[in-house]
Amino acid sequence: MPKSERKIFTNQSLSMKKIKAIGYDMDYTLIHYHTELWEELAYNTIVEYLKKHHMSMPKTKFDPELVIRGLIIDRKYGNILKVCQYGQVKLAYHGTSALSPKRIGQLYSKEIVHLSSDRFVFLNTLFSGSIGCLYTQLVDAHDHGQLASYDYDTLYELLDEATAYTHLESHLKSEIIKNPSKYVFKDDDMILTLKEQIACGKKLFLVTNSDWDYTQSIMSHVFDPYLDGESWESLFNVIVVGARKPAFFSSSQETFCVDRETSLLKPVGRKLPSGQIYYRCNAQEVESLLKVSGNDIIYVGDHMYTDINVSKRVFGWRTCLIIRELEKEINTIIINKESIKRLISMRRERHTIDKIMSRLEMDQITQKESFEKDQAEHLASLKKQYKKIDAQIIEEERKYNQLSNKTWGLLMRSGQQKSHLARQVERYADIYTSRVSNFHFYSPSCHFDYISRPLPHDTNITR
Ligand SMILES: [Mg+2]
Repeated sequence: MPKSERKIFTNQSLSMKKIKAIGYDMDYTLIHYHTELWEELAYNTIVEYLKKHHMSMPKTKFDPELVIRGLIIDRKYGNILKVCQYGQVKLAYHGTSALSPKRIGQLYSKEIVHLSSDRFVFLNTLFSGSIGCLYTQLVDAHDHGQLASYDYDTLYELLDEATAYTHLESHLKSEIIKNPSKYVFKDDDMILTLKEQIACGKKLFLVTNSDWDYTQSIMSHVFDPYLDGESWESLFNVIVVGARKPAFFSSSQETFCVDRETSLLKPVGRKLPSGQIYYRCNAQEVESLLKVSGNDIIYVGDHMYTDINVSKRVFGWRTCLIIRELEKEINTIIINKESIKRLISMRRERHTIDKIMSRLEMDQITQKESFEKDQAEHLASLKKQYKKIDAQIIEEERKYNQLSNKTWGLLMRSGQQKSHLARQVERYADIYTSRVSNFHFYSPSCHFDYISRPLPHDTNITR
C-alpha cells in the first residue's frame, strides 16, 4: 500500500474496470514543475509586462508563502479571503495586513461569498501563487500612495491581462523550453503508470491548453528517455493542444490539425483524420474519435474549474483532481496528530462543562432560594474549569491555524470547518490525489470505494 500522502481518495465510488479511456491535462498534471521556481519566473514575467505597459512598479519580490491554492481575491476591497464550505469568510488579509475578526465581521457578516460573482476570483491552481502574491503587494502599494490612481478592481484587471499575456504569448514557456531540467520535476513512476493503464486496455488521451511547440518539447523531455526510441506520442490515442478549456467542454469549437514539422495549422473536413495532432477541437469530437462517451471516461487534471467542474457537469465524465500540495498537508497532519487529537478532546470537554454549567445557571435563576450552596459551589468551580480550558483551546487553535502555512493554515480546513476548496473537491472530484503516478499503487481495474462518513446525527450509532 502507498504511504498516506500518496494514496488516492474517494468522494464517489468509481470502478476503474468500467473506465475505457483516461484523459490527461498536461501542466501540473502529467508535467509537474518545481513550483517556486516556475511561479517566481511567472511573477517576474508579469511584473515586466506591467512595467512595460501600465505602471511604474513598486520594488517587490516573489514570496511563495503569501498565498495558497483555494484562497479568494475580493476585487472590491483588495482583500484575500479564506472561506469555509458555507461561503463565510473566516480569515482575511488586506494586501499583506491581517484583518481583525471585528473588521471581517463589518465587511462580510452579511455576505456569502459566491464565485459566480465577478467580484470574487478563486485561486484555482498552483499557477495562482504568483498572481495572488503580486495582487497583495499591489494593494499595499496602492494604500501607500504609489499606485493610487488605480482602484483595487482595476489592479486585478491589469494583473489578469498581464497573466493571460505571459501564458498565452508563451514568453514564460519559451524560458522553460530553454532549460526544462531546471523547471520540470521528473517522476520515474509516471511512465510505468501510463504503460500499466495501456496494458490493461485503457485508451489514453491528452487535452492541454498549451500550444504544440511547448507540448512537444516538454513531453519529449519528460517521457522520451523512457521509451526506447519511441516518441511520447505513442502513449496517446488522441492528442489535443491549444484546447482552450473550458471552451473545449462547453462549445463545439472548430478543429484544426497541426503540421508536426512546421507547427502550422491545417483545416480539416467534417470527418477528422485519425493519428493527427488536433488543435482546439472539442470534447464531443474526442468522444467520437475514441468511440467512448460519458462515464466511460475519466479526466485527470489540476484545475478545479476547467478540468474537473466542466468535464463532469457538461459531459458526465468521471474526474480525478491532482492536488500536489496534499502531500505536505497530509504529512503535516501526521506529524501533529497528537496535538490535533488533544484539541478535539479539549473541545469535547469544554462542551460537556458548558452543558452542565448552563443547566446549573438556569436552575439558579428558576429555583432562586432553593438553589443549594453546594450547587452554587459546583457552578463556581465549573466556571473556573471552563475559563482554563477555553484559554488552552484558544492557544491550541492558534497553533492549529498555522499548520502547513503560518498565515493561512491547512489547505482543506478553515478553522473547525472544511475550506471552500475542500467543498469544491468533494463536490466535483470523484477521486483526488497528489500526483498521477499514485495510480501506480493501484490496479487499473480496481474499485475506488466511497466509505460513508457520519452525519452529525449519526454519532449515536457510530460511537
Ligand atoms: Mg493544468
